[in-house]
Amino acid sequence: MDFRQGDTVFMITGYGPHVWAWGVQYALAKMGLPTLPGGGMDARARANIVIRYKPTILLCTPSYALHLGRTVEALGVDPRTTAVRTLFVAGEPGMSVAATRERIQELWDARLVEFYGCTEASPHVGGFSCPHSQPAGGPVSTHLLEDVQVWETVDPVSRSPQAEGERGLTVSTNLNSESSPQLRFLVGDYAKFDRSRCACGRTHVRALGPFAGRADDLINLRGIKMFPGQIEHAVRSIAGIGDEFEIVLTTNADGLDVMMVRVEHPARAEIAAAVADEIRTRCEVRAEVEVLTPGTLPRTEFKAARVKDRREKR
Ligand SMILES: [Zn+2]
Repeated sequence: MDFRQGDTVFMITGYGPHVWAWGVQYALAKMGLPTLPGGGMDARARANIVIRYKPTILLCTPSYALHLGRTVEALGVDPRTTAVRTLFVAGEPGMSVAATRERIQELWDARLVEFYGCTEASPHVGGFSCPHSQPAGGPVSTHLLEDVQVWETVDPVSRSPQAEGERGLTVSTNLNSESSPQLRFLVGDYAKFDRSRCACGRTHVRALGPFAGRADDLINLRGIKMFPGQIEHAVRSIAGIGDEFEIVLTTNADGLDVMMVRVEHPARAEIAAAVADEIRTRCEVRAEVEVLTPGTLPRTEFKAARVKDRREKR
């Protein structure tokens, strides 16, 4: 990830039993890189630490990177002028949603890198960004830890192994876990693997292009299937839209399942149609759009829970 001597890492995590941040904490200690523990404080306190102690790397979720950036702005400081040069994210899609990735990088004038994995196949998470993960004009890529894990993709329907380069669901076997050994565990993210040598020199398999999202997260609305990340991309591609949004699924009086997307924007009336259009274009689904005054939706403190499924179960 191109962390070097001279970097200081601000660890924005609750320090609870969480597989990602603890692994990073120990790795940074081995690398001799200083860390600032950022548990048990609110965004304002954390923003002040960013301004005062000048960490060069932030560890947090993608939604928190946005939230903290806005909090720094509210204190009268442009996040782009802080010492932060790298945003190290995990826990929710970051690299994979282009509009979110660009929004975070733009806000901080910093590079996004990410860990990808699943708690079930711990202690190691499965993948990481390298300095060449965002090539100009090319797809993003994620290296997978093939020295301690075996990675495959399987057909989403038949679950049979696939040939190299076909898009399927990820499956992991971890080779050195005593606490949670897994044989061919279905992680279930849609991905396409590539074994060619990366520009960084590593030969471990890479997931090429974004991880589209876990099969479990797929929204099925009246037979139309989409990932929350597709809605996120549509919402964030509109200029001036706030960082928070919600997807609310309900069943209307006629028994029809409907989707409402709630966003924030100062120009409320004009923006609803634009957001609905964008969603229709990208996801081929009609959504009601509610535009709220900025600051209405609850701020994400750790991991965003954007989908509220309140449909009647049949
Ligand atoms: Zn690489």
